[in-house]
Amino acid sequence: MAALQELLEYQKLDGELRKIELELNATEEKKKLNQAKAVMRNAEMRIAAEDKRALELRAFRDSLTARVDEMSKMIAEYSDVEEIVEGGGDVAFYKKSAQQLMEKLRSLKQELNKMLAEIEQLTAEYKKLMEQGKQMNKQKKEYAEKFKEIQSQYTDRVDELNKKMEETAKNIPADILERYRQKRKEKIFPVLVPLAGDMCVCGMDLPLAQRNRLAGGNVIECENCHRFIYKK
Ligand SMILES: [Zn+2]
Repeated sequence: MAALQELLEYQKLDGELRKIELELNATEEKKKLNQAKAVMRNAEMRIAAEDKRALELRAFRDSLTARVDEMSKMIAEYSDVEEIVEGGGDVAFYKKSAQQLMEKLRSLKQELNKMLAEIEQLTAEYKKLMEQGKQMNKQKKEYAEKFKEIQSQYTDRVDELNKKMEETAKNIPADILERYRQKRKEKIFPVLVPLAGDMCVCGMDLPLAQRNRLAGGNVIECENCHRFIYKK
């Protein structure tokens, strides 16, 4: 591959940028910012889940209330039981039916109470989450501001590095540059490594035929770690 020197220069600049990025990521401000973002994401997810549950509970409450109403009406009809009995009805039968209805009503009311307890718990949790979200939002804003300040100290250097990289990139064949950038996206760094004895830095043995291809500034790709290997 031609342009080995340019590629090495490009990587050197890239490495400096990467170092700055790592330094920034390691700052307390960035960590606090990321922490706030993560907590907020989690709170948002839980709030969405609770919203869904609240909807379900509301529908359940409506259906229970309708059933309780219906039952109450049926029981009210038994208030006429004395007339029915006087008219020759079976007392034992009406008594039993009324009792069954009362029991059903009792269990419905129990369900309703259980549901109300869940709603109460949900409301309390919801409040807690909203409060937490508010606090984290404050932390996020505060540390975003602080982080921006730290970042601004590097702006000039980062701009300079980017400009130099752009210049250097002009002398690197587009396909090679593309492959380099792809590897960087895959978090490979350094992308270009010198041959280490008969091996790649990852420990992969390179047969002689492959090593011979390194002559004249050529570069080969390691089959194992996908780095570019060159000979010093
Ligand atoms: Zn390798």
